[in-house]
Amino acid sequence: MHTFKGGIFPPERKELSRDCAIEEAFPSSKTVTIPVTMGGAPNTPVVKVGDAVAKGQLIAKSDKFMSAPVHASISGTVKKIETHLVTANTEVPCIVIESDGSDRTDYMPPLDPFTCDTKDAIERVRDAGIVGMGGASFPAHVKMSPPPGKEVEFVLLNAAECEPYLTIDERTLAEQTEKVIDGLAIELKIMGAHGIVVLETNKKYIAPAIQAEIDKKGYGDDMEICLVKTKYPQGAEKNITKAVLNREIPAGGLPADVGCMISNVGTACAVSDAFRLGKPLIERGLTISGGACVTPKNLHVPIGTLVGDLIPSPVQLKNGEVCKIISGGPMMGFAMTNANFPVQKGTSGVLFLTKKETYVTDESPCIGCGRCVAACSLRLTPVMIIRSLKSGDLEAAKNYGLMDCCECGTCAYVCPANVRLVQRFRLGKAAVRAQMAAAKAAADAEKAKAAAPAGDGGKQ
Ligand code: SF4
Ligand code: SF4
Repeated sequence: MHTFKGGIFPPERKELSRDCAIEEAFPSSKTVTIPVTMGGAPNTPVVKVGDAVAKGQLIAKSDKFMSAPVHASISGTVKKIETHLVTANTEVPCIVIESDGSDRTDYMPPLDPFTCDTKDAIERVRDAGIVGMGGASFPAHVKMSPPPGKEVEFVLLNAAECEPYLTIDERTLAEQTEKVIDGLAIELKIMGAHGIVVLETNKKYIAPAIQAEIDKKGYGDDMEICLVKTKYPQGAEKNITKAVLNREIPAGGLPADVGCMISNVGTACAVSDAFRLGKPLIERGLTISGGACVTPKNLHVPIGTLVGDLIPSPVQLKNGEVCKIISGGPMMGFAMTNANFPVQKGTSGVLFLTKKETYVTDESPCIGCGRCVAACSLRLTPVMIIRSLKSGDLEAAKNYGLMDCCECGTCAYVCPANVRLVQRFRLGKAAVRAQMAAAKAAADAEKAKAAAPAGDGGKQ
């Protein structure tokens, strides 16, 4: 069985929503709150309050290559451009659009992915604003443009979906097999690569339907299916690459460094829509689950739908039972203060958990048991990272691999002392990034000073 070293086996809890077919849903307030930036460099709005917009119309963009444009997910009027709460409990600029009920669209013309130039195909992916939909929201066209000298031999369609509760990828594969395989075929054409659909064994019942679709389309020489052990965090880039290809992404490196690209199931669907329909990434599927839901669901909603606008219909909650709201899965997701946050391009699920499902206990001092070291699939030493951070030694934390940590939460899950490892790693990473940004700003200022004409003191 293909797998990786370390990892854990948390309760799957997928039975809550696994059999729930994907339903279309629209926000009850008939408005969407779309973050101006959802992956990549910051965008700038290209619409203003009062503008009428059509579904699919560009509303925010950046000239930077490492950016993904954003489009209106419904037709209507721009009501506000203001900061709003989003995942990770931050406030970012958002464009609020009120529906006019018309469903007017402004899509791009369809483009044949198998006859167009690779350059045009990558441009289409960029114009459609496609980002990785598994959570990281890395711009897809950047993944498809590896640096010179790096060749992508394999595209792994990551259908591991190893986070407990989440079932949207599983349902999408089961219900939209044709679209997923079409999207993967387009990605293979762009990259000139071989495709591998990676499924955890708890989803192996879908494999025959996927194989039948591959055979029907005559893609047998270009694609295969690989079953991997059901284990958390199987879907993390480094683990899936190691399990399937036995290749190790180097510290600080990218999948392209070992000849591979990893694509999410939803991303493959978005790629297919971008070419076949000319439709930008304006909608997505997500799982809404947890013990506090009367009926867990898999929904397909416009990007920017406020989670609160899906309650009490189609999502009904048990009275007084919600103890914790999580954006994402229970291992890597973010605890939210309330449900008034929008579904973004990277939102794969929202969980409403009861007290019983929520593991909240007091933290006690580290006992040096080393369980976190044995469980970390990236072979980091979480105990040493946390000790370095607690003593304020960022350099040592970096040397122990802080910046390579994928925040999977495995170490925290096994820690008998309930040390808040991941929360501190996130804060530590933010401190390192702030340090790097300050160093870069200082270097830029120094460079500008050196470049200024002599004799005027650099003043203009
Ligand atoms: S698992 Fe927890 S208690 Fe054990 S060494 Fe790691 S941080 Fe310390
Ligand atoms: S959160 Fe980071 S340190 Fe902890 S197990 Fe995951 S990768 Fe390792």
